[in-house]
Amino acid sequence: MSAAGLLIIGSSQAGVQLAVSLRALGYPDPITLLGDENHRPYQRPALSKEFLQDVISKESMIFRTQEYWDDHDIRVVKNERIVRFDTRPDGSGVAYARSGETFEFDRLALAVGARARKLQVPGADLPGVLYLRNADDALELKARVPAVENVVVIGGGFIGIEAAASLTKLGKNVTLLEAGPRLIGRAVGPETSDFLLKHHLEAGIDVRLDAELTRIVGTGDQITGVEVGNEVIPADLVLVGIGVLPNTELAEHLGLDCDNGIRVDGHALCSDGVTVAVGDCANLPNPVPGSPAGDRVRFESVNNAIEQAKVAAYAITGDPEEYAGIPWFWSNQGALKLQIAGLSTGYDQTVVRAHEPTKWSVLYYRDGRIIAADAVNAPLDFMAVKGALAKGQNIPADAAADTTTMLKTLTTDI
Ligand code: NAP
Repeated sequence: MSAAGLLIIGSSQAGVQLAVSLRALGYPDPITLLGDENHRPYQRPALSKEFLQDVISKESMIFRTQEYWDDHDIRVVKNERIVRFDTRPDGSGVAYARSGETFEFDRLALAVGARARKLQVPGADLPGVLYLRNADDALELKARVPAVENVVVIGGGFIGIEAAASLTKLGKNVTLLEAGPRLIGRAVGPETSDFLLKHHLEAGIDVRLDAELTRIVGTGDQITGVEVGNEVIPADLVLVGIGVLPNTELAEHLGLDCDNGIRVDGHALCSDGVTVAVGDCANLPNPVPGSPAGDRVRFESVNNAIEQAKVAAYAITGDPEEYAGIPWFWSNQGALKLQIAGLSTGYDQTVVRAHEPTKWSVLYYRDGRIIAADAVNAPLDFMAVKGALAKGQNIPADAAADTTTMLKTLTTDI
């Protein structure tokens, strides 16, 4: 038995899943799960929703009990940041932490995630300009919220909309500024963006599209507003959610290939053929069956972190299984639960299923074949499309708009 075992750097969704899957597969060597936050490994999705709204406690977001880690012989290390390595050609080596601590490993897994993109305008470094990526960010935001009346949220993506909906629910005046022409422009089509916009405007969020933010205005350390064109929107607090950047520095230091993330193959193996990289930091071959050869993607989703970590666990235990699957995402935005199945990139036709004012879905087609769906408060539509995609089936477009017909009854083999 090896003395050092596997060192997993990053103890969020992907790192935790890798450790858990390895033990489930009978991996016999020591596992160290190391993270740089001063919290036990926890789940992030609630940070912008239930945790921010004070509906759930920090404790309920913790992944596993200490008893689980002890019983499965997984050493969990928190509050340590790896800054460099000495490695040997077989992939083993020593990791050096900023604290001076060292960690020996036989094999390395990078589950290092992504960091929030920083706002680059005058005033962006004022103390009331916050981000929401981890538990410390959420704790700081929660601590400031009671004293705040006017919030400007910058970015109309997942974080921006979810947090804007939560803060509106908490009774704050919320303005949301999106630089592009529509909401969540990278993940959903224009019909879904329009549907979400209408709902969030009605729910009381002052959404501004094509917003050209010029500076954050403040006196001393206190934010007073956000300048957009000729207008200054009053603000006591600014929350920024303008996307993330993959953390590739350690991989680059190791000499691994990186390009919008750490490049891996379908088994989560990096360019050295030994190290694995999983989760938001990894750039992988598109796992959707039928994808163009050579197409690569980097997903920022819980589902990908879990599935890719399982694939990495198979690769490490010597029983490789190629990553193939249908990506899916979800986002709770106030009264709306948005679920996305598949990737709509390259669609040439859409079908809208308008059930009710707040229950709605849009199906995406390419060459007559279903490739994705956005479903809002319509879980049966989501499940039907996800199931059809997983089985390689179609849901013919001509019949799909009829909301009196359940989508799952329309699936056909191709
Ligand atoms: P995001 O989903 O990429 O959205 C960022 C949005 O901000 C984009 O619409 C972007 O427009 C816009 N933007 C960029 N620069 C701007 C500026 N200067 N002013 C105004 N708007 C600007 O990223 P995010 O919302 O920050 O979320 C961060 C990460 O957390 C992502 O990985 C996300 O997937 C993840 N997350 C996921 C969920 C979920 O799945 N439910 C929930 C929360 C967070 P352009 O596209 O035009 O650049």
